[in-house]
Amino acid sequence: MRILDFHLHYNGNIDEAERFAALWREGGVQKAVVFGLNFNDGSHTSMRDVAALAVRVPDFFIPFAYLNLGYEDCMAQVREAVSRGFKGLKFIYAAKPYDDDEYFPIYEAAAKANMVCLFHTGIVIGNVGKSGLHGIDFQGKWRISSNHMRPMHLDRIARAFPDMPIVGAHLGAESWYEEAASMLHWQTNLYFDMSIGQFHYTRKNTPEGQDGRVIKSRIRELYDSGTLDLHRILFGSDSVVGNPDANPGWSLRTLKFELEALGATEEEKEAVCWGTAARLLGIP
Ligand SMILES: [Zn+2]
Repeated sequence: MRILDFHLHYNGNIDEAERFAALWREGGVQKAVVFGLNFNDGSHTSMRDVAALAVRVPDFFIPFAYLNLGYEDCMAQVREAVSRGFKGLKFIYAAKPYDDDEYFPIYEAAAKANMVCLFHTGIVIGNVGKSGLHGIDFQGKWRISSNHMRPMHLDRIARAFPDMPIVGAHLGAESWYEEAASMLHWQTNLYFDMSIGQFHYTRKNTPEGQDGRVIKSRIRELYDSGTLDLHRILFGSDSVVGNPDANPGWSLRTLKFELEALGATEEEKEAVCWGTAARLLGIP
């Protein structure tokens, strides 16, 4: 089955580009959406670097602009993304809630340019991730709040721009699955990615050699009741291009496990792995 990875970060290390793409292709991933990541000082990978990555490996990476709302000139960034022919924008870290009036001109420009808008939703990496792949030292100074990135803040944006595809990353991440899934029911232009492993947990104290993976009961209920429509869910690995240790193995095995264990139909699996994302991005 063809796979489109809708959630990749890039740290600017171009030397890993080919090796990364080769590993993902080996796993069945034919295309992947990629955007920047924040460093410890709060700066992030430039749009130029993300564009250069896409050029380096033709026909694989789909570049999105990476925007921190309220911390940079996002209108200028959207204009640059349009002029570069980017198909989408990734929003993460917002000085105010995503649906603050201040940000609406940015969304309006994005909607006019037919951009796909991906928003981080749910709790964001904190100081547990210190010295990891994502910078976090700026978060205190910037007064970062995960609450600004609640899925429900996408509700107002989805209503104002009903033709703009809006994707929430991480399905609201643990705290807000119900909120995220219930929004799918009421807004046809909303989608969520399932990065990464959001549908299951591993039972603690599982003896070595045994499989302790279980579908979360909340996800099971949302799927069985029809609220969590898999035609509106996208696969993402949330991996970092440029990380020499990057490997798609776990995320691809998890994707397969979660869809099987949930009881997804073949048609639903195809929608999650490829169909819906390809349609949003205009890929035949
Ligand atoms: Zn991410």
